[in-house]
Amino acid sequence: MPTSKANDWPLQNGDTVCIVGGGPGGASCALAIKREAEKLGKEIRVLVFEQKRFNEGRQFNQCIGVLSPPLEDILRDQLGLELPESMLRKKIEGYHLHSDRMDLALDGKEHGSTYAVSRSEFDEFLFNQAVSAGVEINHNRITGMEVGPHDVLVYSEGQNCRAAVVVGAFGLDEGTAWIFERATRYRRPDFLNTIITRLYPGPDFLDSLGPWIHAFLVSRKGMEFGAVTPKHDHLSINIAGRAVASPIMVEFLRSPPVQKLLPPKIHKEKPLNFFKGKFPISPAGNLFGDRYVTIGDAAGLIRPFKGKGINSACLTGIYAARCMMNFGVSRKAFQNYIRDCEELTADLWYGRAIRLLTNLSTRYGFMDHILNIAARDPLFMEAMFNIVSGELPYKQIFKSTFSPRVGLNFSQEIFKYIFRQPLARRL
Ligand SMILES: Cc1cc2nc3c(=O)[nH]c(=O)nc-3n(C[C@H](O)[C@H](O)[C@H](O)COP(=O)(O)OP(=O)(O)OC[C@H]3O[C@@H](n4cnc5c(N)ncnc54)[C@H](O)[C@@H]3O)c2cc1C
Repeated sequence: MPTSKANDWPLQNGDTVCIVGGGPGGASCALAIKREAEKLGKEIRVLVFEQKRFNEGRQFNQCIGVLSPPLEDILRDQLGLELPESMLRKKIEGYHLHSDRMDLALDGKEHGSTYAVSRSEFDEFLFNQAVSAGVEINHNRITGMEVGPHDVLVYSEGQNCRAAVVVGAFGLDEGTAWIFERATRYRRPDFLNTIITRLYPGPDFLDSLGPWIHAFLVSRKGMEFGAVTPKHDHLSINIAGRAVASPIMVEFLRSPPVQKLLPPKIHKEKPLNFFKGKFPISPAGNLFGDRYVTIGDAAGLIRPFKGKGINSACLTGIYAARCMMNFGVSRKAFQNYIRDCEELTADLWYGRAIRLLTNLSTRYGFMDHILNIAARDPLFMEAMFNIVSGELPYKQIFKSTFSPRVGLNFSQEIFKYIFRQPLARRL
């Protein structure tokens, strides 16, 4: 066996990979390693530390549970998995975008179907597939880590694991990020806080709302965006911002545009349950190095501003697996991983620009005017659809949207904004 600081050669027969976290990122990475190993005729031991037991329905990863294209293709083509029909509880047909005074049904087409699912069922499905593929599971929380020149030692509340490489698939878990920061040069990504709640208005009311996701870009202090998503038996409502907290959620629920989507008096009947989560908004620092790599939310490699976080977690997990199986586990070898992630990293600056423009527009009450442009300009409508659905990269949206006509429409709306002229469509 050659000796060097870290393997610049692919994983060898008998090597162990330790994955911290069995969410979509960790499970996809585990499955992809097993698939690549089989193709190459190698025996690789894969051990996943996952503290939660998804099958018990007690613990889950915070999420709205919307699976958007091309997730079905990614799972089928890259991991050989078909999502069971029974899991796809509701087909989402489109999006409504709300500003303070406007409500616009976004017109556009996604290449593929969007479904609302139960997130714990989805996590359990991927997890079970990994177990069937021979991945070992340790249901303990990791408590420490040592990354040495020849191997990695991962400590947990139960058994420990010595491995050739450790994969950080721990989402935005603060304690685990701290363990990685202590053991490596990894630095956690910047993030937004989220609050989620659920309402159970009954099947008739849910049917009357239709299969639309309602996205909100409204001027509310502390909040960047909100959404009301119809699921098969309830409504999921979430808000996001640097400092969102339950009182901001209560204010959001009481605001007139949201009230229109809620059944009367529902939250007087039963106290609301609130859940807390986080969205990464920038890549992690040193997201890989000798004998470690991070994927999914832990790496902060998701489309900035608009999620599809599950898609990115699965993809980055698959890219990391291929890199380890074909190139190695050194910092140098992981350059191949980050190269594969280019579709996400190349869009970062465009996503940041869109987030900045959106935040400025909501803060200064210009979002109504932006929706007004979309209402009368099909090219701009398409751009808004692609931004909200995440259908196209921001870079492509920027390039295909800006034209003299859109520029003229903007000038007219800026004029109306300055001189407070009425908008064409009000709520
Ligand atoms: C409010 C909200 C709504 C969202 N809605 C959507 C949506 O509708 N569609 C979508 O595509 N994306 C959505 N996302 C984003 C999506 O949830 C994430 O991007 C995705 O879950 C990231 O997957 P992951 O595998 O990287 O991390 P996670 O799903 O967070 O999984 C990390 C796993 O690591 C485990 N773990 C952490 N630390 C340890 C430890 N020390 N020991 C053992 N195990 C550990 C955790 O238990 C967890 O299971 C949403 C996010 C939020 C916050």
